Amino acid sequence: MHAAPPTNPPSHATSTLVALPAFNDNYIWLLHNGEQAWVVDPGDAGPVLQALQQWQLRLTGILVTHHHADHVGGIAALRQHLHGPVYGPARENIPSPYLALRGGDVVDVLGMQFRVIDVPGHTAGHIAYAQQGEATRPLLFCGDTLFSAGCGRLFEGTPAQMASSLALLSALPADSQVCCTHEYTLSNLKFAAAVEPDNADVLHHTRHCQALREQGQPTLPSSLALERRINPFLRCSEPAVVAAAQRQGATNDDAVAVLAALREWKNRF
Ligand code: ZN
Ligand code: FE
Repeated sequence: MHAAPPTNPPSHATSTLVALPAFNDNYIWLLHNGEQAWVVDPGDAGPVLQALQQWQLRLTGILVTHHHADHVGGIAALRQHLHGPVYGPARENIPSPYLALRGGDVVDVLGMQFRVIDVPGHTAGHIAYAQQGEATRPLLFCGDTLFSAGCGRLFEGTPAQMASSLALLSALPADSQVCCTHEYTLSNLKFAAAVEPDNADVLHHTRHCQALREQGQPTLPSSLALERRINPFLRCSEPAVVAAAQRQGATNDDAVAVLAALREWKNRF
């Protein structure tokens, strides 16, 4: 995808949320109120600086979910434009200085409260940010833990950790907007269809996302309600998913064994 942000960013209830494309398939989420902007996981400063200039915004904070370069690589270059904090995971090393967060911490972003959730699995200290309060369609910045129709690779964590991290995310309000950091949806849906060939929601959503991609549009944010219907990694107790995992070598039907077998299968899919 091209790095140019759209001219008219889509509107959010209390602020505006934009997915800035970066690298081949990353998104840097930008949240602004017309004056102040926050970005999530700026792996590259370029698209952020371009958006700040185009919309005349002042960068007032950065949220980081985990230490991978495609999520932190732009921080150093953004510091000279930054008028506020960098927040990141306490259990990982990201470019200093930053304010270290743990599960249960709450941070204010443009007047919205976000609760930090520990979601180890993709990396050992990965955190997610879930908007609190009465807002409809609360925002969820989940980094590389939960993708639309998929989940992150287990680079530093175990299947048990990923299973409990995904369970925490899946328990958030159904109308949560799932803001993942990669455009992996179509390839994930191909895998989801292999796991559950009879899941009509997977086929329907695949057609929807194909149309979006043909128009150069992101398939994100997704919603948790949708993910519960299409994401095999959130459906590890569904009989069809359990059966598929067992055909791939899962030795029993508990959620961790099913997730482990699905993740192994996806790695070579
Ligand atoms: Zn990552
Ligand atoms: Fe990533």
